[in-house]
Amino acid sequence: MNHAPDFESRNIATTAEAERARYHALFNAIDDGFCIIEFFDGPHGPLSDYVHTEANPGYERHTGIAGVVGKTLREIDPIEADRWIELYGSVLRTGEPIRFERYFLTAGRHIEVSAARVEPASLRQVSVLFRDVSARKKAEEALRASEALARVNSERVQLALAAGAIIGTWFWDLPNDRFTVDEPFAHVFGLDPAQGRDGLSLAQVIANVHPDDRGGLIHAISDVIQRGGHYAHQYRVRRADGRYYWIEANGRVDHGPDGTPLSFPGVLLDVEERRAVEAERDRAAASLRALNDTLEQRVIERTAELMRAEEQLRQAQKMEAVGQLTGGLAHDFNNLLAGVSGSLQLLSIRLSQGRLADVDKYVVAAQGAVRRAAALTHRLLAFSRRQTLDPRSTDVNALVNGMTDLIQRTVGPGIKVEAIGVAGLWPALVDAGQLENALLNLCINARDAMPNGGRITIETANKWIDRSAAHSHDMPEGQYLSLCVTDTGTGMSPDVIAKAFDPFFTTKPMGMGTGLGLSMIYGFAKQSGGQVRIYSEVGQGTTVCIYLPRFYGDVDSQTLDHDADSPIAGTEAGETILVVDDEPSVRMLITDVLEELGYTVIEAADSVAGLRLLQSNVRIDLLVSDVGLPGGMNGRQMADAARQTRPGLKVLFITGYAENSIIGNGHLEPGMQVMTKPFALETFSARVREMVDASS
Ligand code: ADP
Ligand code: MG
Repeated sequence: MNHAPDFESRNIATTAEAERARYHALFNAIDDGFCIIEFFDGPHGPLSDYVHTEANPGYERHTGIAGVVGKTLREIDPIEADRWIELYGSVLRTGEPIRFERYFLTAGRHIEVSAARVEPASLRQVSVLFRDVSARKKAEEALRASEALARVNSERVQLALAAGAIIGTWFWDLPNDRFTVDEPFAHVFGLDPAQGRDGLSLAQVIANVHPDDRGGLIHAISDVIQRGGHYAHQYRVRRADGRYYWIEANGRVDHGPDGTPLSFPGVLLDVEERRAVEAERDRAAASLRALNDTLEQRVIERTAELMRAEEQLRQAQKMEAVGQLTGGLAHDFNNLLAGVSGSLQLLSIRLSQGRLADVDKYVVAAQGAVRRAAALTHRLLAFSRRQTLDPRSTDVNALVNGMTDLIQRTVGPGIKVEAIGVAGLWPALVDAGQLENALLNLCINARDAMPNGGRITIETANKWIDRSAAHSHDMPEGQYLSLCVTDTGTGMSPDVIAKAFDPFFTTKPMGMGTGLGLSMIYGFAKQSGGQVRIYSEVGQGTTVCIYLPRFYGDVDSQTLDHDADSPIAGTEAGETILVVDDEPSVRMLITDVLEELGYTVIEAADSVAGLRLLQSNVRIDLLVSDVGLPGGMNGRQMADAARQTRPGLKVLFITGYAENSIIGNGHLEPGMQVMTKPFALETFSARVREMVDASS
């Protein structure tokens, strides 16, 4: 167009210019970036560079490149020029529009670039449109990221599922009450998988839960729905095979901002094995416990068995002892019976012969024999555990207080006697007289264990014997009071303790111990519903405790009237003889004889009463005593005790030959003599006179 423009052509030009202006206005107004590039041949060859002929303001916003119009590509981007020329050049060459995305760093935007050839191709122009796709890009990326995360998560779940830890999953849409589960879940619950996908009711799900676990499960579910947060619960579910398996449901309840429970997703864990292991452990523990229990039970049974065996042995030993004794007794009795029947026979012969002068002799002989028989019988009773007891409510503190003087005098001044009665002591149900004997006996044992003096402590206490104490003490559970005598003497070895209660067991020299004291106390305590225990160590002294059952009621104040039965007889003026014998007829006989001789006679029926008199200040010139006596002491022991306060006391023992060893086998102390029964009354009278008259 090198000719001058005519009107028409100016018109045309004007029209074209107006169009271009409009086109430019539009061009500048659009938000997208836009430019036209025109290729030309350069030093690098044909169509090897281009220049931006036009660019709107959007171009700069989208690409971050300003002032490109009129500039060659190689000026703007020398490094990447060839790639752009290749890209846009292909559009120019082929006429195929292209579209691609590119991130423009300076603008910080993701841009979708579309390029198309401007026709005709001879213009060598390409139009390029830039559209910002950053927002879309961001959304896509977020989507991709979440997809990736979901993939990872699902892979994890798959892994867990594959590993068998998770054996099912569920999702519970709470507002719509839609409970959906996956196939493994349906399998675990013995349900149809199709149903699981469609949605289940809670009732359907719970139907196969073990009936014992159902209540707990419903409770746990409603609890977590209400409180929200984590949920874990173990229970048994029946599968298609009809067996119950342990599972753990693990989930979480999400609440909306207003506190409405929204969703409750979760997984099922297989805890069958864990439960099995735990159950096995529990079973093992239980059987161990059971073993322990039965072990204890077996030990108790075994101990009881042993104790029974021991008791039988004791019984056997006792029987042996009784056998020896009865053997001796039978022998004695035969002799005595021979004496009695012989006397009676001779008596009847003399009577028939009319020889009355000889009659007395046989009567005396018969009486002597009968008396010896009585004495022997008495010896039996002395350690028999079947004496007649008279248990009454007794204030043991008062009993002890009433005895301390007697005890102190009995044990002598070298031993300090102390009584400690606990305040508020329960009354005991016991035969008071026997308890006095027992206490005295314990104190005599204590004295014997303290030849060089020491201390005796008598203590009372209330005792609760609980189950284990009852077991170890071999006595019924319950309330008891204890009466303990403690000494500071030699103590006892375990061996001696084991045998101490046996009848005739004594460690004392011949004639000093009968071995019957503790045996009698044991029999008495057991018969009273109580017990006796020895606590002792060699060299440390001994405590012997008598346990007596508590009496529930008032104390009988009559029980302990000591003075009432202490006969204060005899006068200071006359010579006085104390006769101690438990056989009333013998006592009467002797008393008559002695009174005929002009003596004042006092009588006592047992060793305690006798000792009480001996320790009073009643005048006693001679003690005539049987050796085998009730009251816990034999005649010898009573006499020894009496000599503590009456050192020169003269004593005449009257005894059957079987009792010789008790009084010392003939080795008697000065001032002591013995007459063996039976004896003539004249001989007896002569001996008494001789002894009373002798200067002491
Ligand atoms: P005895 O006193 O006649 O020997 P016991 O039955 O009273 O008979 O006592 C039996 C034995 O128990 C005694 O010989 C003695 O060995 C022992 N014994 C009893 N009491 C005590 C004690 N308090 N201290 C040391 N040993 C004792
Ligand atoms: Mg004794």
